[in-house]
Amino acid sequence: MRKWGGAQWLWTRYVMALAFLVVLLVGGHLLHLQVLGEGAKDAETVDISGRQRMLSQRIAGLAQHLKDPVERSSYEASLLDALEVFENSHALLLERSVDFPSAHKVYALGSEYGLDAQVQAFADDVRAAVAIAAGEPEQIKLIRKIEMAALAPLLLELDNAVKAFASDAELRLAGLERLQKVALFLALGLLALEGLFIFWPAHRSVMSALRAAEGRSKQLEQRNNELGQMTLQLEHSAHHDQLTGLANRKKLHADLKARLKTGAKREQRLCVMHVDLDRFKEINDTLGHPVGDAVLRRAAEIMKSRFRKGDLVARVGGDEFVIVANISDGASTKEEARSIAERMIARIREPMIIDGNKCMVGASVGYVIVEDDSGDCDRLIADADIALYEAKRAGRGIAVAFGPNMRSEIEKRYALIRDLERAIDNNEFVPFLQPKVAFSDGRVQGFEVLSRWNHPQRGVLLPGDFIDLAEETGLITAIDQQAVLGGLDALVELRSQGYDVPTLAVNASASSLRSGDYVSDFNMALAMRGLTPEDIRIEFVENTVIADDSDKALEVLRELTAAGFKIDIDDFGTGYASLSMLSRLHLSGLKIDRELVNDLDQHKSMQVVEAIVGLAKGMELEVIAEGVETPTQFAKLKAAGCDTAQGFGIGEPISVADTISWLDAYSAQPYGAVG
Ligand code: C2E
Ligand code: CA
Ligand code: CA
Repeated sequence: MRKWGGAQWLWTRYVMALAFLVVLLVGGHLLHLQVLGEGAKDAETVDISGRQRMLSQRIAGLAQHLKDPVERSSYEASLLDALEVFENSHALLLERSVDFPSAHKVYALGSEYGLDAQVQAFADDVRAAVAIAAGEPEQIKLIRKIEMAALAPLLLELDNAVKAFASDAELRLAGLERLQKVALFLALGLLALEGLFIFWPAHRSVMSALRAAEGRSKQLEQRNNELGQMTLQLEHSAHHDQLTGLANRKKLHADLKARLKTGAKREQRLCVMHVDLDRFKEINDTLGHPVGDAVLRRAAEIMKSRFRKGDLVARVGGDEFVIVANISDGASTKEEARSIAERMIARIREPMIIDGNKCMVGASVGYVIVEDDSGDCDRLIADADIALYEAKRAGRGIAVAFGPNMRSEIEKRYALIRDLERAIDNNEFVPFLQPKVAFSDGRVQGFEVLSRWNHPQRGVLLPGDFIDLAEETGLITAIDQQAVLGGLDALVELRSQGYDVPTLAVNASASSLRSGDYVSDFNMALAMRGLTPEDIRIEFVENTVIADDSDKALEVLRELTAAGFKIDIDDFGTGYASLSMLSRLHLSGLKIDRELVNDLDQHKSMQVVEAIVGLAKGMELEVIAEGVETPTQFAKLKAAGCDTAQGFGIGEPISVADTISWLDAYSAQPYGAVG
């Protein structure tokens, strides 16, 4: 609305300015015509007045011929004609003299002396001379008078008149010139005003409109650029991982397909590497996602820096990456790929300091060298993945090349996972119980629940056959649950048969502690069987819980102690013992690792055991020794001050049914009493 108003105002101004110009032009022209007209008329007046002088002389001359009777007839008419012209011109000049002040004086001032009076007298004399017969003395006298007048007074007056007209005309011309000058200045002034009030504001509004338009076009341009940028970004984010900026799976597939089509560069071979970060999940779980993200970014940078520009690094999963690289072709292509991968692994293994946290991740790599260019993209990635699995199985932190025999291994693994899932559904995990007795008097302190897989075809399987995979796939929580429930049922059964079983120990993996409602589920299971948390010892392997307060597993352990459960650290003394954990948790006991017990003959191991006992006593913790196989071990551990013994020497893990007969046999001859 305002814009239109502005434009209309501008238009009005232009129309006004145009009108002004037209008025100035027309006015100037009219003035000019006026000045020209006046000037011409004045010139004519001056001219006529000059001719009157000649005419008076001619009349006087013609009057001479009146004297001669012969000549008279032929000159009289001419004389009268000239006189008429003279008188007419005089009348005209008399009339015009009104506009010429000094000429007017000459004509009109006192008619007796003025030119008018002289002309009247001169004309009267001429007519009187015509009326008298030729040659009469009266006539001669008159003609002499006419001649005299024409020679002196009239001539003088006419001269004066000519001069007066001429000077007045000059004056009037000067006046007109001044008028024209004034008009010119006025016109210039008006033009200046027009410029000032019409053109300048108009110019300014045009300029500001131009600037606004320019601004708008700049804005549009910017908007356009932004749109372009956004399209690029969209395009980029459709093909890239947001966190690391690396290519994503989609781009990897497209890229790899294209490379397979065009084939490797001359004297080069394509290599597909599958990289998996080790211990990343722990960092993510314990130090939080922001730190985890930073670790991923750092690892991505390292990977990118290790490869050439033309190579592709893609992030294909949480902590999984795929690299497509060109390796020089030759006998040692495989070795070169391995050494590149190993250097990258070494670089990733270096500690990363993130927000003051020292993060230690590792990397495992599986790679495959593309044999022929007709290779299938998905197959190559899967092959690299299989090699990666082998690298992880072989202890992680290494690079393994794909071999065709590996495919069957992986197929086995997938079969096992499917088998595990099926076994969980069929409740194939059964609790085996291993007794724990007091060093002091050999009394049974309780049992540890150890899971066995009652496989329909393969028979009874030990945890070593399935625990790692179960941990890896998260299936361990279901297995833990089955072990707990089976163990509790066994405890109820044993007690109902009159056996004194003070506690039952269960193993809790960190992922079980972190998943779901571990505490309330456990409490519910206890309540349903008339048991209490005091009946339970929970064993967890110390290195599954990292020293970080934000870890949910730690939180759950605290809840468990608060609810009355006893907590023991399993495999104590071998893993990365975090002594600060001892002060942070309210523990009940330390379970000395089997390896230490096994090595008791060595002087150092004995010292370590004594140190652990000293530490535990200081903190009022119970010391449990596992893996006790021989009476010597039993004696040494007893001497060192351990409280509870567990091991094949006392009793192996056995089924619940077998436990009853074991208890009967044992009560007849307790270990301590024998040892
Ligand atoms: P662990 O908790 O340290 O359990 C003790 C392991 O040592 C058991 O092996 C047991 O059979 C073995 N053992 C006990 N005494 C002796 C001995 O005198 N000599 C020798 N050589 N070995 C002895 P198992 O049953 O094969 O279990 C292995 C590991 O699997 C366990 O180590 C535990 O960490 C884990 N595990 C077993 N059942 C479960 C379960 O239900 N849940 C979880 N999360 N882990 C379990
Ligand atoms: Ca245990
Ligand atoms: Ca143990």
